[in-house]
Parts: sequence; C-alpha cells; structure tokens
Amino acid sequence: MKHTKVKDLLASTTTLQEVNAKGWVRTFRNNQFIALNDGSTINNIQCVVDFENTPDEILKRITTGAAVSVTGTLVPSKGAGQSFEIQVSKLDILGDSDPEKFPMQPKKHSLEFLRENAHLRVRTNAFGAIMRVRSVLSFAVHSYFQEKGFVYVTTPIITGADAEGAGEMFQVTSLPIDNLPKNEEGEIDYKKDFFGKHTNLTVSGQLEGETFAMALGQIYTFGPTFRAENSNTSRHLAEFWMIEPEVAFNDLDANMDLAEDFIQYVIKYAMDKCPEDLKFLESRLLDEEKSKPQAERSEMTLLEKLNFVLENNFKRVSYTEAIDILRDSTPNKKKKFNYIINEWGADLQSEHERYLVEKHFKCPVILFDYPANIKAFYMRLNDNTEPGKETVRAMDILFPGIGEIVGGSQREERLDVLVEKMKAIGIDEKELSWYLDTRRFGSAVHSGFGLGFERLVLFVTGMTNIRDVIPFPRTPGNAEF
Ligand code: ATP
Ligand code: MN
Repeated sequence: MKHTKVKDLLASTTTLQEVNAKGWVRTFRNNQFIALNDGSTINNIQCVVDFENTPDEILKRITTGAAVSVTGTLVPSKGAGQSFEIQVSKLDILGDSDPEKFPMQPKKHSLEFLRENAHLRVRTNAFGAIMRVRSVLSFAVHSYFQEKGFVYVTTPIITGADAEGAGEMFQVTSLPIDNLPKNEEGEIDYKKDFFGKHTNLTVSGQLEGETFAMALGQIYTFGPTFRAENSNTSRHLAEFWMIEPEVAFNDLDANMDLAEDFIQYVIKYAMDKCPEDLKFLESRLLDEEKSKPQAERSEMTLLEKLNFVLENNFKRVSYTEAIDILRDSTPNKKKKFNYIINEWGADLQSEHERYLVEKHFKCPVILFDYPANIKAFYMRLNDNTEPGKETVRAMDILFPGIGEIVGGSQREERLDVLVEKMKAIGIDEKELSWYLDTRRFGSAVHSGFGLGFERLVLFVTGMTNIRDVIPFPRTPGNAEF
C-alpha cells in the first residue's frame, strides 16, 4: 500500500477508511499515542495504538527516532491540537532506534550540540522548518529571475582567474604536496599541475557573469562560493551560496531597484509557501529571547519583521551621509565603537552598519557611493568627484540583525579607466584580458550584485548563527560530514 504524506493526511476533510503513513516517531506517550513526523510538514500526526491488542515486544520498540509504518483509519481527533488522527490497525517497525543511544531526544538541545550532530539535527522541529524554508527560498530565487526573463548561468567553480578579488581563495591542485615540482627558478611549477596553471575555488562568479550579461542582457548565477577567510563570525562561512544577477544597461539606481524588488519577492514567496514553518520559527525565537535582557530582545516578532521589509522602502543613504551620522552618534562620541569614526574614507565595520540599521534608521538601508579605495577595482568611478575624495557607484544593502546582505555596483564600462585602475593596484592586464574584452567590444553601462543566500535564510528564519541555516557548515577548523 502506498503511504500518504502526513501533510496531506492532516489536510483531509473527511474520515478515510484505510490510510498508511510512514515516518519517524517523535514521541510515544502513555503506551498509546505516537507523534509521527515524516518531514512533509512541521506538524506531527497523532497515531493511536490499540495497546491492548499490540504485543509488548512491539510497543517497546516504538521509541523516539524509530522508523515506523502505520495503517489504520483517519478520523477526526478528539484530542486538542490536531484535526485528524490515525486509529492504528497495523503497525510495523521499519527501523529501530535505541532510546539509550539516539541523540535527538524530545527535550531542548543547545544549538551547539545540534551543530555537532548536523546529520541528525534535521530531525528536530526547528531544523526541519529551517531546511524546508531554505528549499522554498532557493526555488523563489529561480522563480523571480525566470519570471523576469533572466538567463541562469552556471559560472565555473574551479577558476583560473586569480584576480576575482572578493576574498582569500582555496587553491585547487592535483600536485603531490609532499613533493612539489619546481621550475628552474626554484618556484612551484604549475605547468605540471592538472590544468597547467594555478587554480582556485571561485570566490565570485561576477567576472564571468559580466561576459554573459554583455550578450544575454539579464543573467543570474546561483551557486557555491568559497572563501578561505579566517573570520570566525556568526555571518561567515567558508562555503556559501551566492546569487549574482548582472544586467546590461542598468545603472546603479536600477540595480538598487532590482535588489530591493528581488528581496521583497523572495521573502513574500516564503511567507506564502511556509506559513506553518515560519510561525514555528517565530515562536522559537520568542522563546530564545526570553532568556535575554529586555534591551536585547527584538521589538518585532519574526513575521512582523518580514512584513516590515515587504511594506517599507529600503532607506537609500550615501556613504558620505552615513559617515556624518556615525561621527555624530552617541556610541562614537562615547567611544563605545571598537573602531571610532573620525574621517571620511574610513571602512565601515559591522558595528557601524548595525548602528545605522538597527538604531538610527530602524529599517533596511542601502548605502551607496563609497570611497573608491575601499572598494573593488571594477566599480564605476563617479563623475565629478573631488581629487582625493573619489567615490565609486557601489551599493551595500544592510539588514537588521544581519549587517551586509548584498554587495553590488555599477561596473566601470570605460576600458581606459578600468585598465588604469588595474595597473594602480597591480592586477596583471594579461591575466584578465578576457574580462577586458567586454569593454573592448560593445561596452555598455551595466550593473549587478551578490547576495549571500545563507544571510537571506538567516533573516527569514530568524536564526542568529549562519551555521544553523546551511545543512553542513564549513568554517575554519570544521569540515565534519
Ligand atoms: P562581509 O563584509 O560581510 O565579509 P563582503 O564584503 O566580503 O562581505 P561581498 O564580497 O560583497 O561580501 O559578497 C557578496 C555577498 O556575499 C555579501 O553581501 C554577503 O551577503 C555574502 N557573503 C560574503 N562573504 C560571505 C561568507 N564568508 N559567508 C557567507 N556569506 C558571505
Ligand atoms: Mn568578506
């Protein structure tokens, strides 16, 4: 007999004579009530076992974590908390789970403990919900761009471009590391390596993406990205997923409009498709915050925060305005920031970004027109900027509780300006000759951005550590599983 998903059983409107459900036991109460979950929904289905007619050896094997198959009648439930339940006529244990050994007991586990058991944490309510929301959000990403006629481009994961410039890279090699071939100068001879050259894992698909935008018009990438940055924070992973749209003929304003519209669309999509999971995650967050002092608790619930983002425009603020606000801010004057803001040109730390978003504007903020020398070489130099105070058409989107969620820019479309910039910072023109071809042949204004998918999932699920929104996190010192 084919089993029916718990989600569909719970959505039934009538009694059904014979149904079969398969799943994992969450709890077994009074030798009678199984809370069964199969991952199709946050909700369990109650299965009422006829314990008087079930052998003791079977009853003993209905333990948390065990896989079971139940057959019976789906009837309206007399108990509170569920609409329908299964009156079990036949129960099979598919796979036992020793209650002395199964780590996911029905009690509160710390997030740290769950991280160490990432292969089993997905059997908890919270991680089931997070992973379903993550899945729906990735579909929403494709749905948004496909509806708008963007072309999905898969850029290489192994890259020969050393100058992507977005972060520290992981080297890819098939050379024997205990016996490296050397050239006449005594340097490692990468000609003997697998690709005949030095290669890395990608830190961004942008440069390749730009070449496609300059032919297909509107493109997006959505793939894994690797950064060997040793930042042990709650917002950085060594392996994360990035979404990078790139659009020909878009200037920075159009780029900001696209980013804002995209973020609102995917959040709305998740709210429409995952109401129960989000409701659960909202109560999880409320629960977690109860242990915090009043001042550190959020002013809004999770769903209020998500609605707020849908209903309000992001505040657009130039870097220069932001510096003025920060310089005059109380934490700056009282020297509460770790990095005190004195001068125009300072790079903003996450404490500053969070002050702007959470304390000053109290809404998502788009900062734009950053100083040229704290941003990447490919960003469009603003016309009419004072010498020494050059700015570029960059934008970062800052979110409450997250900090930077998007980094993007209008790209420098002028070949001579771009080449000069590369020279000034020591990027070999020959290395990136293919990239410069976009500017040599039919160059045009174009813009794009990168959005860290896990930071989006963090925001939507109300989780606070990025390690909790990716199935198997990779961070410095940790590549378990
Ligand atoms: P940050 O300053 O937070 O390290 P960044 O300036 O290095 O970010 P970009 O190079 O602009 O980030 O990358 C684009 C987006 O990718 C960021 O806005 C962020 O959402 C995401 N991102 C960057 N680095 C990481 C990381 N190590 N783990 C997860 N997401 C990241
Ligand atoms: Mn970074």
